[in-house]
Amino acid sequence: AVQNNPDILLITSDAALAANRHGGRAKCLQRLVRLDLPVPRTVALSFQAVKRIAAGQMPDIAQVDAQFGEEALLCVRPSSEDPDWGGPGAVLNIGMNDAQYRCLSERLGPGAAAALYSRFVQAYATHVARLDPDVFDGDPVESPKGLQRMLRAYEDEADEPFPQSRSDQLRGVLRSMARAWEGTSARLLRQAKGAPADAGLGLVVQEMIPGLGQGECGSGVLQLADPVTGLPQITGRYLSQSQGREALGAGAAAIYLEKDPRGPSLEELAPEAFEALKRDAALMRRRLREEMQVEFVIQNGEVHILDGVRVPRSPRAAVRIAVRLAEDGIIPPEEAVMRVDAHSVSELLHRQVAPDAAREVLATGIGASPGAATGRIVFSAAAAQASAARGEACILVRRETAPEDVRGMHAAAGVLTEKGGMTSHAAVIGRGLGLPCIVGASELTFNTRDKMLRTPAGRILRESDVITIDGSTGEILAGEPEMLEAALDDAFQTLMGWADTCRDIGVRANADTPADARTAHNFDAEGIGLCRTEHMFFEPGRLTVMREMIFADSSSGRAEVLARLLPMQRDDFIQLFKIMEGRPVCIRLFDPPLHEFLPATRSGQRELAEALDLPVSDVTRRIEAMAEYNPMLGLRGVRLGVTVPEIYEMQARAIFEATLESGAAGAPIVPEIMIPLVSAKREVELIKGRIDSVAATVRAQRGRDFTYRLGVMVETPRAALRAAEIAPNVAFLSFGTNDLTQMTYGLSRDDAGRFMSDYVNKGVFAEDPFHVLDIDGVGELLKLGAERGRAAHPGLTVSICGEHGGNPESIAFCREAGFDYVSCSPFRVPVARLAAAQLAI
Ligand code: PEP
Ligand code: MG
Repeated sequence: AVQNNPDILLITSDAALAANRHGGRAKCLQRLVRLDLPVPRTVALSFQAVKRIAAGQMPDIAQVDAQFGEEALLCVRPSSEDPDWGGPGAVLNIGMNDAQYRCLSERLGPGAAAALYSRFVQAYATHVARLDPDVFDGDPVESPKGLQRMLRAYEDEADEPFPQSRSDQLRGVLRSMARAWEGTSARLLRQAKGAPADAGLGLVVQEMIPGLGQGECGSGVLQLADPVTGLPQITGRYLSQSQGREALGAGAAAIYLEKDPRGPSLEELAPEAFEALKRDAALMRRRLREEMQVEFVIQNGEVHILDGVRVPRSPRAAVRIAVRLAEDGIIPPEEAVMRVDAHSVSELLHRQVAPDAAREVLATGIGASPGAATGRIVFSAAAAQASAARGEACILVRRETAPEDVRGMHAAAGVLTEKGGMTSHAAVIGRGLGLPCIVGASELTFNTRDKMLRTPAGRILRESDVITIDGSTGEILAGEPEMLEAALDDAFQTLMGWADTCRDIGVRANADTPADARTAHNFDAEGIGLCRTEHMFFEPGRLTVMREMIFADSSSGRAEVLARLLPMQRDDFIQLFKIMEGRPVCIRLFDPPLHEFLPATRSGQRELAEALDLPVSDVTRRIEAMAEYNPMLGLRGVRLGVTVPEIYEMQARAIFEATLESGAAGAPIVPEIMIPLVSAKREVELIKGRIDSVAATVRAQRGRDFTYRLGVMVETPRAALRAAEIAPNVAFLSFGTNDLTQMTYGLSRDDAGRFMSDYVNKGVFAEDPFHVLDIDGVGELLKLGAERGRAAHPGLTVSICGEHGGNPESIAFCREAGFDYVSCSPFRVPVARLAAAQLAI
């Protein structure tokens, strides 16, 4: 009768079960049955049946009950469509009653039988009869007397004796589990994990294998891979005389699975059972095409398989497990690529706090550059350098960072700032350096003058106190929790290689310095999509020359200083070309407002006055004269190029001379030059004219020819709108979505951090638009700009080089819009390569 009812099915090889009608556990159990594994008899109840039970319409439970031997004890487990959505806890030992108790007392002894019965009474009383748990004092009892007391207490409280009929008990359990699924908290919990509002619950009723009794009896879990590393290794737990996963609490005195000098093992206690288990687990891995955790019971030396679930895994284990499954021929490589979450890959590229380490969270900010770092607190770049010189790791703490801090960032293990968002100075530099960074940590009170930080809980942190920052989660932690090292191992490289064969959009890196370029090359970027040349001037020696250039008050004076900067720039580019081995290198001309290079503090200004041999008042006056109310919207980018053309001319010359020098050794190099912050066609014409004439001069001087590609960075809404008239002048457009987001929203990328979390929490923004591309608004400008540009200039190369270039959702958008490549921080290149491959599979 059961097999004619699709809502109540005995699990056999050919029963018509489906994960979306009976749940994942029921479906998985059927797979195990099909593999002829020793699965106890099980009946599956469909979502429909459980829904009706919750509504008070109990199906014919006698039918279910009749599927099992009269003496059998039963258990009920949840079976939701996706195991991650959870479900009510399992109820074991249904069918325990006075008669069973007497019988088991003889077989197992009265203590064990009492423990078993009392555990069931307790579970039933709380979950089914809904009695106050305080009715029974404490744990399950192990004495017949205690059991009698418990049964009496039940009767007093419930006004009826403890039910003795197995089918009555089963009805009660099914009803309580069905209703628990409908409860508000359960609903909210699973929806938070991505379950749809109408997610169903199936239930499986399974014959209990006691796990208690004569011979070797017990229960455990076993898997063939380590959940943290993914390496092939038998891990799990086993406990003699125990019943199922629920009894395997962390504190339980577990027995080792494999032989172990530290204590007894299942391998020694029941060698045949252990061999059988290993065989079963391997069979499950091969046939279910997944690394499975086996839940088993051993009864008198014989193995029973209660269930199989996907081995829970860390991101690094996920990579290794997927790669090993593919290498063993169990899944194709493309499937291995699909099985790894692209977002989680960035964790592998950095040190991270060990998943099971204790975390004392002092405060939380915006995790702006992933990875974790531990060090002593320092409050200035100079202190960071001193600390590095002593060989001591430090965390540089600043209210915000400026170019002067870059040397300190190089010296620090991590950076923590009060202000800023995903694209502020500290964040961009941090990601470029692969340096863990938290910005916008305004929960902390920053008192940098007195060298103090106050946590929301009132704790004071001083210079040299040790903290850990987790740039992935944004958590600032006390002390030094245990860390996991980066995992750029062979499995990771293999997976990336497979990803590259699937991918159909290019991935380049944003790299400013030779060190960045080396990282980009190590991560197999196809080229450099953005070299922010101003970052090349942040080094101490160069900063002074740069300042001299800014202070030069005549054209000839400026030319003299630029002539000193020229060889430095040329060397930079030679190095980049060399490291990138012929892959394209896109160099952006100088972008930021000049006064960003000038010292903001009094002492810095005094130092500068000394270096330039000027009175301090001259220096301050000059700095004040250059200050702008809104520098991000002021004299920067191409506007500087138009008004102080010598800087771009010097850069163009450096690029061309480097091109000839580097190209002499091997294949000719075709540099890409990019103009920032364009908003009008005429800007491009002016700069193009000047660069062409520098090119002509260099060709004439060197007597050798070369070509170059000129491009425009689309960072203003106007440039996107006017792409049709800009594109014919250039070979490529690259969308700088950091500035474009800032300007489209009219939202400062340096100040948004302060209220971003409020905005996201209140649902104004679905996500931080500086992190995930705003497809509706900024995305529309991208599409429109790309279309207009390409219509006016077929063959135009189109790309994105804002921070969004490394974000999987944004990559999906760019690929849809037909972009040629994305460019992102070097450390995000692997994420981008994997995400791009997954889109193409
Ligand atoms: C941008 O604006 O998106 C960009 C890449 O340039 P930057 O971040 O240097 O302003
Ligand atoms: Mg920009």
